[in-house]
Amino acid sequence: LKKKAKAWEKEANEVKLAAVLGAGIMGGGVAFQSALKGTPILMKDINQDGIALGLKEAKKLLTKRIDKGKMKPDQMADVLNNITPTLNYGDFKNVDLVVEAVVENAKVKDAVLRETEESVREDTILTSNTSTISINKLAANLKRPENFCGMHFFNPVHMMPLVEVIRGEKTSDRAIATTVAYAKAMGKTPIVVNDCPGFLVNRVLFPYFGGFVNLVRDGADFQHVDKVMEKFGWPMGPAYLLDVVGMDTGKHAGEVMAEGFPDRMKHEGTTAIDVMFDNNRYGQKNDKGFYKYE
Ligand code: NAD
Repeated sequence: LKKKAKAWEKEANEVKLAAVLGAGIMGGGVAFQSALKGTPILMKDINQDGIALGLKEAKKLLTKRIDKGKMKPDQMADVLNNITPTLNYGDFKNVDLVVEAVVENAKVKDAVLRETEESVREDTILTSNTSTISINKLAANLKRPENFCGMHFFNPVHMMPLVEVIRGEKTSDRAIATTVAYAKAMGKTPIVVNDCPGFLVNRVLFPYFGGFVNLVRDGADFQHVDKVMEKFGWPMGPAYLLDVVGMDTGKHAGEVMAEGFPDRMKHEGTTAIDVMFDNNRYGQKNDKGFYKYE
């Protein structure tokens, strides 16, 4: 494997300019981390509100770094200058690598990836930050599937070291090498994994969420479960983690896992995640989920 990795490394293109599609929890986090580590990035969303949220989050994180003495106040502008918000694909011809981070919906991602492919150079690498959707499925309608792979960050992006780089059947070594190199330039620890719904981490995490919703259905108090899991040693319990992830993302990703592994991950009836979602309790993104946030 090490030999293979050395061979891939030689194929890497330098990422001088990146782009992220979607300025939400994950897109905003990717833009912040790329900018912080010195790779300029275009941050595209479909509306100004999305962009404003992404920029607000970046400013909040930078202010925290300054307060903690990790950064000088005059460096804030340099980092923010590395993020170029946009509502269109105008400058995408100069982009070396794109991270797609729009909603967890295969149809939306498919459309966004195809229109992006029309707006970039032939050698630009396209990646998706999907939590669960198969990379081969997303590659199916692309003209250059060899330039496409998964680049799966974890939430919150600035704190979580791991990035899964997912190799699809048609992904080239150049795409993997470039994505691995960009992840390293962002200060992350990339691992290359094969394609399947949920990849590696979410094949572990979603059965855990499944265990949690079953416990709640059996009558457990979610706050109690969270406290127990914290005592067990996890930084937070499953209910709080779902609030951080976002109930919409959790629900849609859970559906992809159930479709991919029906015998192992399908849930009968309504789960606690469905109840939260149906009651518009999306978690920290709209200040109410299992818990309330002001
Ligand atoms: P989010 O709802 O916070 O953000 C999605 C953003 O995409 C919104 O700002 C929306 O306006 C924008 N968007 C929608 N359609 C668009 C389009 N056509 N072009 C550009 N922008 C568009 O969602 P999120 O939690 O950041 O999740 C984004 C992706 O990252 C999903 O695929 C999700 O599964 C994945 N992911 C999420 C987490 C998590 O913990 N939330 C972790 C890892 C991966």
